[in-house]
Amino acid sequence: MAAEPWAGAHASAAAASSVALEAAELTALAEADSTLLDGLREDRCESAARLLLQADFMLCATGAGMSVGCGMSTYRTYSSTGEESAARVGGSSGDDGDSDYAGPLYEALASAETLRLDPASFHAFMCSFFNDAQEARRTAGYRTLRAWQDCLFSSGHAFTFTSNVDGMHLREGFAWVFECHGSKMRWQCSKPCRDEVWDLLLYPSFRFPSARPAKRRRLQEQDEAPSAEDSGAAAEGAAAEGAVAEDAAAEGGGLTEAVGENSPTSAAASAARFVGQFDVGDATPPAPSCPHCSSAARPAVLLFGEDYASRHEAGGQAEEWAAWKQWVLDALAADRSKRLVVIEIGAGTAVPSVRDAGESLLRRAGSRQCTLVRINPTPMLGDNTTDGVLSIKWGAEAAIAHINECVRKLARESVD
Ligand SMILES: [Zn+2]
Repeated sequence: MAAEPWAGAHASAAAASSVALEAAELTALAEADSTLLDGLREDRCESAARLLLQADFMLCATGAGMSVGCGMSTYRTYSSTGEESAARVGGSSGDDGDSDYAGPLYEALASAETLRLDPASFHAFMCSFFNDAQEARRTAGYRTLRAWQDCLFSSGHAFTFTSNVDGMHLREGFAWVFECHGSKMRWQCSKPCRDEVWDLLLYPSFRFPSARPAKRRRLQEQDEAPSAEDSGAAAEGAAAEGAVAEDAAAEGGGLTEAVGENSPTSAAASAARFVGQFDVGDATPPAPSCPHCSSAARPAVLLFGEDYASRHEAGGQAEEWAAWKQWVLDALAADRSKRLVVIEIGAGTAVPSVRDAGESLLRRAGSRQCTLVRINPTPMLGDNTTDGVLSIKWGAEAAIAHINECVRKLARESVD
């Protein structure tokens, strides 16, 4: 990657002093860069369209900004008192919405600790998100991205890397997707008692019954596992942060033994059982629980405060992503006329998984064979001058629509 954009003008004498720009100067440069990008965005959309038409491979790399148009906010403040307000929280598992980042409250709720200590609040939050995502409309932007993959690229030549946990790409029928933080549309056992995820996208009409605090008691009544007691005690005094992990580890072993070996039940059948537990008519619905061991259920998503090993991958997504990357890099190395375009959309920098994915490919493929088209309404300093990056300062829907217009125009011209 190139040096910082301001380095060239200041790197003459003492290199060390060149980085000592005042914050005000950086702000001025960023504003100038931003103004420039405003004026360039339509031209750059046409450049992006040319890249799409010329490329042999495409990576779509999407962050929370991609789902804003679906009605899924990047971040909003979650009210600690009302479950209903959880409905508008989060299009991502925690990284991409820079401007309205709500911080600790969101992180506290979407955490492994809250799942253990206050499962009622955790479930209210996660179930509301799920219901919202089920209701969310898929936008023209999603449809257009899929059309590009299907119509402009050979089968298997386009891949999607996303930090979004709302399942939108899969609902739209994208063929190859790696959800790097998992998905809140798949659930799993919190212990977990087995290596299995329940794909709730199989049930497009399913909604969790609205969460109420009473369900917390229901969870504790029905679950004889030690965690029920822990949850209640911890809810009273959420200060017990220290030994929780050890407790959970101890419980996990005990419960797994009590439940016994994994049954041969398929994941699809388990998903049906999971959904079926809420079919209780007028009776108070239960808290989401594992259909095998009755432990609390949770989304198969990376929670704050846990590592990647805590949740299950779905269907080998990570392996497919790794294989695709290597296959593309090998193909580019074998034939220097081949081109890769990365379309990065709505990806922030707080936890830069999506940016890293595209930039890593650009670095390895080189800017002669790869261009990263970065679509973001709030560009970072350096986006506009980094070798191989085409920065478009625009929201996802508007930029995709304009690029698509250019694709159609250029395609018509090539036919004429
Ligand atoms: Zn279980």
